[in-house]
Amino acid sequence: MIKFLDLKAINDQYQEELIEASKRVIESGWYILGTEVETFEKSFASYCDSKYAIGVASGLDALILIFRAYKEMGILADGDEVIVPANTYIASILAISENNLAPIIVEPDINSYNIDPKKIEEKITAKTKAILAVYLYGQSANMTAINQIAKKYNLKVIEDAAQAHGATHFSKKVGSLGDACGFSFYPGKNLGALGDGGAITTDDENLATTIRALRNYGSHKKYENQYRGLNSRLDEMQAAMLSVKLKYLDISNAKRAQVAKAYLTGIKNHKIILPQIMPNNQHVWHLFVIKTSEREKLQTYLSKNGIQSMIHYPIPPHKQEAYKEFKSLHLPITESIHDEVLSLPMHECLSDKDLTTIIKVINDF
Ligand SMILES: *Cc1c(COP(=O)(O)O)cnc(C)c1O
Repeated sequence: MIKFLDLKAINDQYQEELIEASKRVIESGWYILGTEVETFEKSFASYCDSKYAIGVASGLDALILIFRAYKEMGILADGDEVIVPANTYIASILAISENNLAPIIVEPDINSYNIDPKKIEEKITAKTKAILAVYLYGQSANMTAINQIAKKYNLKVIEDAAQAHGATHFSKKVGSLGDACGFSFYPGKNLGALGDGGAITTDDENLATTIRALRNYGSHKKYENQYRGLNSRLDEMQAAMLSVKLKYLDISNAKRAQVAKAYLTGIKNHKIILPQIMPNNQHVWHLFVIKTSEREKLQTYLSKNGIQSMIHYPIPPHKQEAYKEFKSLHLPITESIHDEVLSLPMHECLSDKDLTTIIKVINDF
């Protein structure tokens, strides 16, 4: 069986260093908000060309805390509208509605799968205050166009880079392309912890300070609560694991790019639409997503040939039970994407032999 994702193989590469780092944490006797988190935050901020990074409990919390902080700062208020792509993982939308803000969902561009900047302006009203740009599958959205619109209408730009650690747009790192950015360190992401984790990057000192308090019960000083905060802290153990893996992120992204290149040049089947790298983007290939009108047939065929594949995602957010109010919306591009996408095995430890097998099997379909 060729696995879609082999987390054990991935983490085995760093096993010695991970064990050493976990021992260091165990022996330190300090497990929450200590030197491991501080060290990781500094190196992750620097990796993202950002002034500040704040470690939190998950990618969803990273996004929730950005919006919550803007509310505490008086920049956002209940009922304000936030533009967000319809074609995304539900976490992007949850972060908005969780803060009593209104998600205004916009169709993607069919070639990039990311939000279509041409369709943003028609959705802007007097209540629009922010754009949440998602970097789906591992490449930046068209941030040049999005930042221009944001400037024109005085909107905050928030990035959801949960799938794009290390990606660039015009050579600028994601995490530094907007006002604030949320990252996830869920184990299967390009930079994955050995448990849950997330981070926010920003150049805004005020925002960073507010989020630092909010992630820790709304407190800057123990037992003094300025805000009604959350308990959403990256723990010392995960920070230590992440510091090990951050050192190898560029290498592992480069290996993913080699896998993607092999797929892009090797797959020749008129039934299959291959993903595209958009101009001026460096793609980090969190997922390699193909499209076909015969998805069910292809997935069954791959499985019979010992190849695991996944669907990201089978149901768009606006068709989910959780968002009944969106059910009547007609979003044909998003819906067609959800009906036709299939993700092929993609990770840094995929062997050349397995890669050749997958390409041959797909070409014989
Ligand atoms: C994974 C993901 C999240 C949420 O991250 P968690 O760490 O699982 O909470 C948010 N947005 C996108 C696009 C994601 O892929």
